[in-house]
Amino acid sequence: MQVLGRGASCKLGQSASLRAMPIAHLALPSPLRHGFDYRLPAGVHELPPGVRVRAPFGRREVIGWLLHEAAESDVPAAKMRAVLEIIDSEPALNAELWQLALWAARYYQHPIGDALTQMVPALIRQGEPLRATLESCWRLTARGLALSEDGLSRAPKQLAALQLLSAHPQGLSETTCRALQIAREALKALSEKGLAECFQPEHAAKAPTPAWPALGLAQAELRLNAEQAVAFDALRKAEDGFRVWLLQGVTGSGKTEVYLQHIAQVLRSGRQVLVLVPEIGLTPQTVARFQARFRCPVLALHSGLSDRERMQVWRQAREGLAGIVIGTRSAVFTPLARPGLIVIDEEHDLSFKQQEGFRYHGRDVAIRRAQLENIPIVLGSATPSLETLANVHAGRYQRLELKLRAGGAKAPLVRCVDLRGQILTDGLCTAAREAMTETLARGEQVLVFLNRRGFAPVMLCHACGWQAGCDRCDAKPTLHRAPMRLQCHHCGSERPPPMHCPDCGSSDLRPAGVGTERLADALSQHFANTPVYRVDRDSTRRKGSFDVLMNAIAKPEAAVLVGTQMLAKGHHFPNVTLVVIPNCDGGLFSADFRGPERLAQQLVQVSGRAGRAEKPGRVLIQTHQPDHPLLQQLFSQGYDACAQTLLNERQLMGLPPAASMALLRAEAPQDSAPQELLSDVAHWLREDEPLVQAWGPMPAPMARKAGMHRWHLLLKTTERKPLHLALSRVVAWLEASPEARRVRWSIDIDPQELS
Ligand code: ADP
Ligand code: ZN
Ligand code: ZN
Repeated sequence: MQVLGRGASCKLGQSASLRAMPIAHLALPSPLRHGFDYRLPAGVHELPPGVRVRAPFGRREVIGWLLHEAAESDVPAAKMRAVLEIIDSEPALNAELWQLALWAARYYQHPIGDALTQMVPALIRQGEPLRATLESCWRLTARGLALSEDGLSRAPKQLAALQLLSAHPQGLSETTCRALQIAREALKALSEKGLAECFQPEHAAKAPTPAWPALGLAQAELRLNAEQAVAFDALRKAEDGFRVWLLQGVTGSGKTEVYLQHIAQVLRSGRQVLVLVPEIGLTPQTVARFQARFRCPVLALHSGLSDRERMQVWRQAREGLAGIVIGTRSAVFTPLARPGLIVIDEEHDLSFKQQEGFRYHGRDVAIRRAQLENIPIVLGSATPSLETLANVHAGRYQRLELKLRAGGAKAPLVRCVDLRGQILTDGLCTAAREAMTETLARGEQVLVFLNRRGFAPVMLCHACGWQAGCDRCDAKPTLHRAPMRLQCHHCGSERPPPMHCPDCGSSDLRPAGVGTERLADALSQHFANTPVYRVDRDSTRRKGSFDVLMNAIAKPEAAVLVGTQMLAKGHHFPNVTLVVIPNCDGGLFSADFRGPERLAQQLVQVSGRAGRAEKPGRVLIQTHQPDHPLLQQLFSQGYDACAQTLLNERQLMGLPPAASMALLRAEAPQDSAPQELLSDVAHWLREDEPLVQAWGPMPAPMARKAGMHRWHLLLKTTERKPLHLALSRVVAWLEASPEARRVRWSIDIDPQELS
């Protein structure tokens, strides 16, 4: 193997002769789904797949990845360009992650170069070294090692630092010290007392790695209740190796405590843990809960990190310096030197699916990764997806259940309120208002869940019925009050609301319908002495504002919380004893076949926010369909029964998870081109691929968005394989076809939203 000194990458390509030259098959950041052949200089051979290279591409220079070396190529030798530089002496991704990348690109029909590019931090794809340069380290001196703990009993921070360092006689790097939250002043103070010293390791192999087993826990574990103990024992006693667990437990049943105790086991064996949470779940509170328990570095990959910080977390994980990595969807690709466990919290959450570009599902990629790394993976949820439940029924995943709330809290009481014939004020009926008044009078909190931000979803003319529309979408812009504007939530365009109706000239323009802004305004007037907190994307846009709201809500005082799904996930609000859902009917009649599943999940998740041990919660759901079978079954028999009914329906209709599905989308500024393109594909499939059912082409549910005309072709098979074979041919045809160039097309495997 060609070995290059670390950091000492070499410039190549000028002196090489053309003959007997090895060929490199490269993945380059390009929308094309094939590799590219380049010359390697003579003498360079047996490079490991996955090293980064710099190569000319068109008129640019790009960084790509070596897929493999090749003996020959279709590209004539005279036309073949040369690799400019081999950046790495080792692959950026280990063998398992490399396999994962190849698998994901194939499975999701995505260009491998682009998939790889999205798997690594921005600075790594721009060519920064894989490893950090050597840093200074800290260790105890002989005096420090000999000191008894009483010697520092009045300086707790120094004592904590001393304890951590004494568990690591070879020392800890500065980055690891920071990740372990060892105060810099404490290290300085120890060094002034001659108890610790800073030193420079001679080379990378001598750099110390922390050993988790020696560190112990920073916080005592809770005593598990009977159900938790059964789940924990099952995880603990399982044989090593790949296995998928579903930890199904209602909100507040203590799933996180089970993860934490199982994670402690894995860390004790010296291995690392990857925790994936939904976008809304990755809050400082979540990270703090993990950091409080463990003494190993717990690193979070959140959106507030700079590119450099992101790369540092990636490097630390890759070198085995991070004990736990917590992140959202894309963290699934974080390399781990010694992987031991993957945990996915709220596995049913839609944010695990990337909805554009590389449309992977973080949960499904994580399961494939666990299989390749041969480690267990735990999926946690109160409302598992139908896909996961089908795998449990098929015996592929093993289910562990927590049916009771930890600490003795009771399940909330749910009541549907029949809206038919009722008078509504700002979307709330009298019964809901009365229940709110009672709850607030007791000094407790009310959560009103309304998944529609802004002031009002429509602005209309009271004289002639005109409604404001978006110029670029088949959608109505939402009226926002602060600041006053009409904003389209689909294309983002904004404009001031008109003063007069463009059709009849009347100035009687009115907001219609209720959004969170309007509801929060109305409730602050109605409950004048009670704070009303609005939690949605608009009210939490400023950095840190979400935490400010959460702290205010944590006070045990009467308050009203008005919020979108941001309030429905991740957080438990112990002071909320009443949840009001003003309208759930949209989900009952959704055009998307997943609509009822999502509604059931959402209702259970929101309901789970209410109540605690001494104060049971209540949930009021306003609906015009109180007799709807879904609502009836959900509240009389629970989520599992409801999920089973939905699974049976999917089976009958031949829909996922009882079938495999892919969605081919096409859009263009002119209406005819996408439709014609998809018609050609559909026609060809019907002739040549009898196992594939093609539905469409049909206009997308929003047929025009951001000025583009959008069409769908839905593909379905009973077995997965024929679908993938057919899609490979469709893609090859689309890439070669001149008609396809006039259209923006994309393929979505296992689509989660048919929008
Ligand atoms: P989940 O992740 O299922 O929503 P958590 O693990 O967050 O549940 O637990 C909910 C609450 O119950 C937390 O406040 C937690 O501290 C508490 N809790 C969890 N397990 C126990 C236990 N065994 N004994 C007492 N309290 C517990
Ligand atoms: Zn008008
Ligand atoms: Zn728009």
